[in-house]
Formats: sequence, C-alpha cells, structure tokens
Amino acid sequence: MNWMTIAWPMVAAACLTLGMIELNIGLWQRPRAPRLLFALSAFTVACVAGLELALMRTDVLAEWWTLMRLLDIAVGVMLVSLMAFIWTYFGNGRKWLVLAVPALYALGLAFDYLPGAPAGSGMTYKAVTAFRTAETFGGATFHVAEGVPNPWNVLPYLAVLAQIAFVTDASVRWRHKGGGWRPVLVGGAVVFFFLCGGLQAALVETGLLNTPYMISWAYLAILIAMSIELNADVLAGARLASQLQESERRMDLASAAADLGLWTWDVGSDTFWATSRARAMFGFSESEHIDRARFLGALHPDDREATNQAIEDALATRSGYDVEYRVPLPDSKIRWIAARGQVERGARGTSTLMRGVVLDVSTRRQTELELQRLHSELAHASRVSMMGQLALALAHELSQPLGAILRNTEAAELFLEHDPPDLDELRAILVDIRHDDQRAGAVIDRLRAGLKRRTIALRPLSLSEELASVAALARGDAMARKVALEIDAAPDLPLVMGDPVQLQQVLLNLALNAMDAVEQMPAAKRKVMLRAQRHGEGEVEVAVKDSGPGIAPERLGRLFEPFFTTKANGMGIGLAISRTIIEAHGGRIWPENNADEGATFRFTLPQAGVARSS
Ligand code: ADP
Repeated sequence: MNWMTIAWPMVAAACLTLGMIELNIGLWQRPRAPRLLFALSAFTVACVAGLELALMRTDVLAEWWTLMRLLDIAVGVMLVSLMAFIWTYFGNGRKWLVLAVPALYALGLAFDYLPGAPAGSGMTYKAVTAFRTAETFGGATFHVAEGVPNPWNVLPYLAVLAQIAFVTDASVRWRHKGGGWRPVLVGGAVVFFFLCGGLQAALVETGLLNTPYMISWAYLAILIAMSIELNADVLAGARLASQLQESERRMDLASAAADLGLWTWDVGSDTFWATSRARAMFGFSESEHIDRARFLGALHPDDREATNQAIEDALATRSGYDVEYRVPLPDSKIRWIAARGQVERGARGTSTLMRGVVLDVSTRRQTELELQRLHSELAHASRVSMMGQLALALAHELSQPLGAILRNTEAAELFLEHDPPDLDELRAILVDIRHDDQRAGAVIDRLRAGLKRRTIALRPLSLSEELASVAALARGDAMARKVALEIDAAPDLPLVMGDPVQLQQVLLNLALNAMDAVEQMPAAKRKVMLRAQRHGEGEVEVAVKDSGPGIAPERLGRLFEPFFTTKANGMGIGLAISRTIIEAHGGRIWPENNADEGATFRFTLPQAGVARSS
C-alpha cells in the first residue's frame, strides 16, 4: 500500500460527501435542478477518482481498455452535468455552446464505442504498445500506458474548451446582472477545474507528464468553492431564521396588542390554522380541527351565506376578503367579528392559501347601534318640537272643515223640518259633510305620520306632491307671519327614492327656517320659494330660497353642527338632522347665499330606478 491508494479514495470520499449534502438539499428545497445536477457531477467525479486509481494499478491491456472506456463515459457525464448545473444555477448561457459541448464529446466517444472501431483502439490511443512502471515521491509506483495517440482525441479537448467558454460567458453575464460574488467563485472554480484537469490529462496522454490521471483532484477546487457557497447559504439561512423568529415575536406582540387573531386557510386541504386568540373568538378549542364547514357552522345562520359568498368571490377574483359577521355565544349574546384576508397564489397560479386577521368589533357595533337609536330619538324629539309649532297652523286648517261640517249639519236640520223634506238637497249636504270629514281626516293623518317614530322606508315618490303637502302644512303659519310661500315644481320631474315622512320633515324644517329668516324683513319683502328641478344625471334637486338677511360667511361652515343656533329659543338640531336624513337617502345638502338677497338651502336626491355609484 502506498500513499496513492489512500489519497485517491479520499478525493472520492470528499466528492461523495458534498454530493450527498447537495442531493439532500436538492430533494427538499426548490429550485431542485441545480442542486441535483451538482450532486450528480460530484458522484461522477467520485467514480472518476476510483477509475483513475484502478488505471494506475493495472498493466493488463484488456482491463486497462475497459477502465479507460468507463473513465471516458464518466468524464462525459461529469462534463454535461456540470454544464447543466451552471445553466440552471446561473440562469443563463449560450445555447449553441450548450449543444457544442456534448456533441464534440460524443464524437470523440464514438472511437471508444462504435462497433466498427478496431479492438485495442479508442478515443485516447490508436493502440497501446506497452505499460511502464513509474515511481513518484515517497517511492510509490504506478503503471502508465504508452501507445500511439489518436489524433481525434482533440475532440474531447475541444469539448472542454467549449465548456470553459460557456462557463466564463455565463459567469460574466450573471455578474453583470448583479449576481455578486457567486458567479466569480463558482464559475471561476469550474473554469479552473476544466483548465487544470484538461491540461493535466493532455500532458499525461502526450507523455510529457509522468503522473497518473488527476482529473478528480482538480475537482477539489469546485468542492471548495461549492462548500464556501453552501456555507454562505447556511449562514444566510441561520440569519433569516433568527430574523424570522424576531419578526414572529414582533407580530405576536402587535397582534396581541391590537387584539387580533391570525388565521390561514389551506384551500386545497380545507384546513384552517388559527392563533389561540382567533380560536377563542369563535369558541373553537385549541386542538379542534377547523375546516370551512366548521367555520361557517360557528357563524350566525343569517351571516353564513354572505360570508361563504365573500370567500368564493375572493377566491374567484384573487382579491381581498373583507367581511363582518356575527358569532352566537353560549350565553345567547352575539359577538361581532370583522375579518380581513387575502388570497395567495400557488406555484402554478392557482389560489391555494387564504391568510388574514379577525378582530372582535362587538363594542364598536354596539356603539353604532346605540348611536343610531339615539339619533332616531333625537330626530323624533325634533319632529315633535316642530310639530308643536305646527299644531296652531293645523288647528287653523282643521277649523275650516269642522266649521263647514257644522254649518252643513245645521242646514240639514232645517231641511228636515220641511214637509216633505227635500231628499236631493239632504243627499248633497251629506256628500259635502263626507268630503269635509275626509279633509279633516287627511290633516290629522299628516300630523300623526309626522309624530310617529319610524325607521327609514324608501319608496319611489313624487317631489311635487311632497312639496304640496309641506306647503299645505306650512301655509297657515306663513299666512300668520305674512310670508308669501310659493312652490315651483318642474312638470316632468322624475320620481325619487325617499321616505315621505322624513323628506317632509326636512322640507318643513328648511321652510320654517326660511320663514324665521324672512321675518326680520318688512312684510312686503317676506318671500319663501320651494323649488324642485332635475340636477345633472340621475338626480333631482330641491331648493328652499328665502329673501332674508342671508348667512354670515363665518357661520356657513357651522350650520350643520348639532346644537348650533342663533335663535333665542332655537334647538340647533334641525339642520343636523336634515343632513343625516338626506345623506341616508344618498343625497347631499348645502347652503349658499343668493346673489341678490337671502339664502338658499339645496339638497339632491337620487332618481328612482337609477343605480347609485357610491
Ligand atoms: P334652529 O332653527 O333651531 O336654530 P337649525 O339647525 O335648523 O336649528 O338651524 C341652525 C342655524 O342655521 C339657525 O340658528 C340659523 O342661524 C341658521 N339658518 C338656518 N336657516 C337659515 C336661513 N334660511 N337663513 C339664515 N340662517 C339660517
């Protein structure tokens, strides 16, 4: 045994070790191809080392040829696998060189394997004439074949040169693209290997160098480069892992502080992962398996379909997912949950994952509901106060039909005293009484409708009719205050979507404010005009114009603030409520000073049957 019998197997072992590591990484981590190809090249070089050792120990011609042919194959596989590794790992390279390398090598290999090739001849030698025993340092001996070189042996060397050109070119390109130190290190090592390995083989084959083949030794340069590269990856991985842990800790802290629950849903396997906080919100235990059906089952029955639809929409459009739903709790309370999420594309563009957060918004929801209730109560209070003002005007309106009924009844009594009584007259009187009664009934209905507290109920309605009703309500007051009240509704006005009682409240409020404003003017100049006309696309505008003093510019921005009033006994909530009502109808309300005198309050309402864009 000499040192060579130990050295070559050590090279092979080093190659096998790195090959195993790369194989392991390649099997588990994407992209797989570069790692697997590199592992293949390392395993092949281990074979090359073994063959080199066997070649230097044989002096039997037939055995030598068998080993030599196997070596040629192994070198070919190594050449191609290394090239494919560079191609996939660097992500570039010249295609014609990719084809040239295996083509040139295969041509050379034909001398080893073509059936027509004479026995005792191959790619390297036309014929082997003798074996010589050489001695190297340490007294170690080995056999060297001597023979007639095959001139076509230039082909595998051309393949090696093409390979060097390919690797250099690919490295330079990658470096230009910002590949950093990797193309220099890995590309440099591969080029070094081919230069040294190729040169050494050429010198051995031409008899200029008295050593065995040492191609596998040159591969050590690649082994070192790849180990450095792997080391860098491992270090980067470790750094990433600690960063990940840190960011996970931050995320935990942030989600705990914000009271957020986190969840992920693997669409393919229909499995939810959720943090303890998220599980607790739905009443799921820590170990419970959650799938889509289980999740939907935990929701309020009325919210299941909408939530399921939101999930479907998010998956179909790959957009965000943003819903609020209720979760019934065991103590028959309700928990409101807001959920946000997003769909993540899988590797092949199919959505495979949904990820998001859940937040308990019960308190906010309760506050909103409470606010709504208070608002409706306030609106009711304001209506009652306004109706109080109108009670006088209504009494005035009622006194007219009631007086007429009384007078007609007295007349009927007189007719009954006739003998025979005039039945036609009596019938006419009864018809009059019924009409007067109906008028009085209508006045009372209007008042009752105004006083009732109701939620908003939109329906198509005619603004001309609403203006007329409001004018009828306000007319008595207007007469008493000597205000000229006019209505102007365009004849072809489209219907709007609205709640008649609420819109009447707004109109009445604006009309009463206008009458308050003009009261400061001399009687002849007290004018209030209610006008309705089309406004742009799909809207109708109502304007309440007065001839009062107008609005001081510094007050213009404050009129809609709750409790803002300039009147001695004003409440300052009429305009605030009017705005709430108009906005709930999908419209806008705003004041402006007229060019000549007074102010105009305008509001818009969407036409019935026109889709709203908001
Ligand atoms: P109130 O009528 O109880 O004061 P509003 O909210 O209806 O409450 O009105 C708020 C304020 O807006 C009024 O006090 C008044 O100063 C101003 N305002 C409303 N309408 C007019 C108008 N037509 N002209 C001038 N000022 C007005």
